[in-house]
Amino acid sequence: MTTFTYDALPSRIVFGPAVARTRLHAEVDALGATRILLVAAETETALARELTAPFADRIAATFTAVRPHVPIETADLARATATGTDLLLSVGGGSTTGTAKAVALTSGLPILAVPTTYAGSEVTPVWGLTERGRKTTGTDPRVLPRTVVYDPDLTATLPAELSAASGLNAMAHCVDAFWAPRRNPVSAAVAEDGIRHLTTGLSRGAADAAARTELLLGAYLAGSAFAVTGSGLHHKICHVLGGAFDLPHARTHAIVLPYVLSFNAPHAPDAVARIAAALGHPDPVKALRDLGAKLGVPAGLRELGLRESDLDTVHGDILALAPADNPRPITAEGLRTLLHAAWAGTDPAGEVA
Ligand code: NAD
Repeated sequence: MTTFTYDALPSRIVFGPAVARTRLHAEVDALGATRILLVAAETETALARELTAPFADRIAATFTAVRPHVPIETADLARATATGTDLLLSVGGGSTTGTAKAVALTSGLPILAVPTTYAGSEVTPVWGLTERGRKTTGTDPRVLPRTVVYDPDLTATLPAELSAASGLNAMAHCVDAFWAPRRNPVSAAVAEDGIRHLTTGLSRGAADAAARTELLLGAYLAGSAFAVTGSGLHHKICHVLGGAFDLPHARTHAIVLPYVLSFNAPHAPDAVARIAAALGHPDPVKALRDLGAKLGVPAGLRELGLRESDLDTVHGDILALAPADNPRPITAEGLRTLLHAAWAGTDPAGEVA
């Protein structure tokens, strides 16, 4: 790729073990905040209170009614709570970051994000809101957090299943970045290195601090690549499936990813070579499947309760959204084969390639 456009995104990143406890106060000072809205889900509130204890006098309000996929009612409540504040401090997973983003979207307030999962939302200018069961997403520079404090100590409490699913979701950001619409040499380099760190972290399990540091670094790189490239075929499929049938976000990504890779592989040899090198395995489709199986990811979407007939319901929507410049042209029949294989959990290399 010798002709490309790349919009670099202006975030400040503070990364490292213990930084949430040692550096957060200084980062709040640097943003000049005196009246903070603290956003944290109920399960994240104890941690958020502990981290903000040194500047508790500056917490003007706390919003804990975080819900997955940011229902519009939640956004409205959070926006009302933000009145009179000068900083949104989010401590939590992608749903919590998403709630702060919904407030920033209408208020223009800056966000300082302290992520506790591997979602990656904290480095993207992408917002999502759900109204009457339909999720809408958009891009706006106002929702990109000004500062992100990444501390692998905070992911120690993630249950193993959530940690694996969230890490594989980050892996999907990296792999899809190789054929997403605004791909460029920078995003490819970032995604490739992200795969390397995520592979190391996921293969070792998230039990030890070094593995969690690898996973969080990989998640940061994954979010950064995704932020630049936008959604490729994989994310379009998962977005439509998840929205239509309320499937678990991260596990859906983990199941579908090897099938999209297998689908595109014959038409994207350079990408496949880089993904394989980063995964440390000559067959990246097999490597992803084996990694998923080791981490307890079901083989097929039917194990999530999806019915075979559901595939027909979403087929047209996915086809309409599929990126026009996907390396392999997406035909109705090709997409049908891909979806069916991902549903059945058959060998991706056998049926899809
Ligand atoms: P989540 O934020 O919904 O968190 C899942 C659960 O884990 C929650 O109950 C949460 O309280 C708990 N949790 C979070 N951190 C924890 C920790 N360290 N220890 C124990 N429990 C913890 O899930 P998620 O996967 O982080 O985020 C998913 C959401 O983020 C989706 O809505 C997705 O669409 C969105 N997302 C958005 C973007 C973007 O760019 N806008 C990117 C990725 C994901």
